[in-house]
Amino acid sequence: MAAITQRAVPFEGGQIVYTLERKQVKNLNLRVRRDGGVYVSAHPRMSLRTIDAFVSGRGAFVRAAQDRLARQRRQTEALPPPPREECLALFSDSLAGQLPLLAPYGVRRPRLRLREMTSRWGSCAWKSGVITLNTRLFYAPRPCLDYVVLHELCHLVHPDHGPGFHSLMGALMPDYKHRKRLLERWADGEGGAR
Ligand SMILES: [Zn+2]
Repeated sequence: MAAITQRAVPFEGGQIVYTLERKQVKNLNLRVRRDGGVYVSAHPRMSLRTIDAFVSGRGAFVRAAQDRLARQRRQTEALPPPPREECLALFSDSLAGQLPLLAPYGVRRPRLRLREMTSRWGSCAWKSGVITLNTRLFYAPRPCLDYVVLHELCHLVHPDHGPGFHSLMGALMPDYKHRKRLLERWADGEGGAR
């Protein structure tokens, strides 16, 4: 059987489509990605019936998460694209503030790339030393921008989201989880202007 398949289960008159990946996990994991896609990972020997039942049992949770993400997208898409020069100046200022924290780890100043994105706040091409930031962050509260910048900088030390990554984030920015939640709330439309 293919390691990754697409499936659908009925839910409240419609259906929930999900991507199933078979891998060595203990049980079942379900998550809703920022683009609203549903992703499930399951042990290779777990029956499809069990997995489908699990997904439909989590139907209400999935729908609520998808609705919230769709609201986030509408809210951020409603903002006009920020002026490029101002955006670059703001992001560079944030980078200049966060970069010294990484100096002990031998991190050099990465190149900044700006992009309008709907499904992520930033990304890091750690091999080429390029950090891409979502231009929507221009409107986010400054602590949230700094959080995203530091997050991407930490990927220059730890490319993945393993324990090493999180302990580094925690050491350099003790309230990073709070800022992450703040960013989610802001994107959700509860936050105000910058
Ligand atoms: Zn990351």
